[in-house]
Amino acid sequence: MKAHHGMYIGGEWRLAAGADTIEVVNPVDEQVIGRVPAGTAADVGHAVRAARAALPGWAATPPTERAAKLAALRDVLVARKDEIAETVTAELGSPLPFSQAVHAGVPILVAGSYAELAATYAFEEKVGNSTVYHEPVGVVGAITPWNYPLHQIVAKAAPALAAGCTVVLKPAEDTPLTAQLFAEAVAEADLPAGVFNLVTGLGPVAGQALAEHPDVDLVSFTGSTAVGRRIGATAGAAVKRVALELGGKSANVILPSADLAKAVNVGVANVMSNSGQTCSAWTRMLVHTSQYEEAVGLAAAAATKYGDRIGPVVSAKQRSRVRSYIEKGVAEGARLVVGGPESPREQGYFISPTVFADVTPDMTIAQEEIFGPVLSIIRYEDEEEAVRIANGTVYGLAGAVWAAEEAEAVAFARRLDTGQVDINGGRFNPLAPFGGYKQSGVGRELGSHGLTEYLQTKSFQF
Ligand code: NAD
Repeated sequence: MKAHHGMYIGGEWRLAAGADTIEVVNPVDEQVIGRVPAGTAADVGHAVRAARAALPGWAATPPTERAAKLAALRDVLVARKDEIAETVTAELGSPLPFSQAVHAGVPILVAGSYAELAATYAFEEKVGNSTVYHEPVGVVGAITPWNYPLHQIVAKAAPALAAGCTVVLKPAEDTPLTAQLFAEAVAEADLPAGVFNLVTGLGPVAGQALAEHPDVDLVSFTGSTAVGRRIGATAGAAVKRVALELGGKSANVILPSADLAKAVNVGVANVMSNSGQTCSAWTRMLVHTSQYEEAVGLAAAAATKYGDRIGPVVSAKQRSRVRSYIEKGVAEGARLVVGGPESPREQGYFISPTVFADVTPDMTIAQEEIFGPVLSIIRYEDEEEAVRIANGTVYGLAGAVWAAEEAEAVAFARRLDTGQVDINGGRFNPLAPFGGYKQSGVGRELGSHGLTEYLQTKSFQF
């Protein structure tokens, strides 16, 4: 795998201020595949200065020209999609077909959607006797996780650039090679120097320096609730804008009228995909008591079929975290139906697809985000109880509802405290706002709602 020794700052690859590096490890065979610089506050300072210097020019660039640059960036991502998929597979461990379809495919869709939005969005509007201008917020500090390495970057950088903001990115330390590839794409698409900058490094060092930097106008963070809380507090103290995309513990509610087999199979696939490392995964399956054992049997069969087909989790640390949740599930009295804490292979950070039945809503595995291929099946007696259980966590990111009639599912879904719900297996929509209720976050990504996060208004009265 190709790894740059430098950081992409001010339109060029320049050496880091310090000599420390971060090893990038392939989770399938535990081999080191590259090293990237571990940036410090000094590198963050350089990058923020470059972003600040580029801001006036980029903010004044007509939106149609910004749109053309984003379209060029999308085209580079298309041209390099195989390389992107291979890089994500090498550092995240996801199977290549999934990397091709999702890790490379979705960012292309999202970048394309912002090329279009930049060209068509009403950056100026009339409201009575006023003209309202939608202006860029300024310099954006973007901090991203490893689970969808390129998607998380593009979901921040593309709307920020479309809005006329400039960006400093601090990507996750486990997947920096994909971030370097994105910086190469930015250069190849000929975006002006300093409009996008990359600082690789550790969260508590480079990430924290970026979040605390006084010349950053908006911090957009995706990651754990624990870190998000700190970043929110720091931004609050400095009275600066913040967007937080945090954890989830979504419910997959199967109403008695639903096609049970379909709902269970799609639900299991949702949890196992990306080895369970999806913040919006439906990790709690809620089934009516009359269909409970049938659903458990179907879920066990579906999870067993996944067997060897899922990739590892990203790191040794993540593997031990997931294992300890599985052990806790057993210790708290849940019934282990498939899988378990033992490693299915000698090498690599693999976890067997795991299904728990007889999970009660108060158990740790029903409350906390596991971020691994682990499904909890919970029983409900009636619809009121299903609503209570579905809403009974600190999170509210996503979810699913299944019923024979769409109207029945929609009526139930309206009662859920969550940002997105898939009705009867509805498809992903890159234009639909994505983000959390409750402790799943603040703000929305994707589509026009994602664009407005990076804009502020100025009104002239006549
Ligand atoms: P994490 O919070 O540890 O790290 C996320 C990013 O923050 C990384 O780039 C990391 O280096 C950085 N970071 C860590 N400590 C920091 C600090 N003190 N200051 C500034 N930056 C810091 O999360 P993770 O383990 O990488 O990712 C998993 C978590 O992310 C899960 O909880 C998951 O639900 C969440 N997530 C949420 C979404 C969403 O859209 N809601 C998407 C993906 C992941």
